[in-house]
Amino acid sequence: MTFAATVLTLYPEMFPGPLGVSLAGRALCEGIWSLETVQIRDFATDKHRSVDDTPAGGGAGMVMRADVLASAVDDVLARRPDAPMLAMSPRGRPLDQALVRELAAGPGISILCGRFEGIDERLFEARPIIPVSIGDYILSGGETAAIVLLDACIRLLPGVMGAPSSGTDESFEAGLLEYPHYTRPQIWEGRTIPEVLRSGDHAKIAAWRSERAVDDTRLRRPDLIERHGGARRPPPSGARRDT
Ligand code: SAH
Repeated sequence: MTFAATVLTLYPEMFPGPLGVSLAGRALCEGIWSLETVQIRDFATDKHRSVDDTPAGGGAGMVMRADVLASAVDDVLARRPDAPMLAMSPRGRPLDQALVRELAAGPGISILCGRFEGIDERLFEARPIIPVSIGDYILSGGETAAIVLLDACIRLLPGVMGAPSSGTDESFEAGLLEYPHYTRPQIWEGRTIPEVLRSGDHAKIAAWRSERAVDDTRLRRPDLIERHGGARRPPPSGARRDT
């Protein structure tokens, strides 16, 4: 089944952009996912085709109009009733791997990209739209955020990644950062690859990786440890660890 992405934007030329190369690009060519862009401006009704207006209450910038956006959203919802309608917004639900997994398991997603100061709040009251944020910083528009969200979903679609297991060991999948990676050369600038990784002892390697995942997460992202109640990732490939 094709994962159908529909992007509502003022800049359709930004798509597929980086999603047209590498894994995502190949998957697009193979029909594992599909992409449709919808030009929001096509739903404007005045002769200037305006999509924004000055903010009520005053202040800088422009606000995207609820009436124009609703027409665009309604058009997409009518054609793709199964796909959840998301809107990229710094005021939205923080994107994490759990949400990515949930969305990637569905039939597709429709994404409304904001510009200017953002979107008239009444749109969110009047339509089933889920605002999603990709982090605590401000981008100039929702398009790059939509690309981030789509990239994260697409790599999880069946047939996109080489090894079916390569997604499950990753950072955040078990509420922890992933263990660090090494590859040849064996010695680089006097630094050697940790001895255990050359031991060939898979149980020992799995235990080392599991320990490093916990230690690095504690050090770099104590918030993750807290959120997951200090849960430890089960050691990969069935290795046992002493705790
Ligand atoms: N004035 C707004 C920011 C508007 S930025 C505020 O302070 O909340 C313009 C558009 O960029 C937004 O409508 C949204 O679509 C997108 N955007 C900016 N930062 C984002 C983020 N962190 N996550 C998701 N979308 C973002």
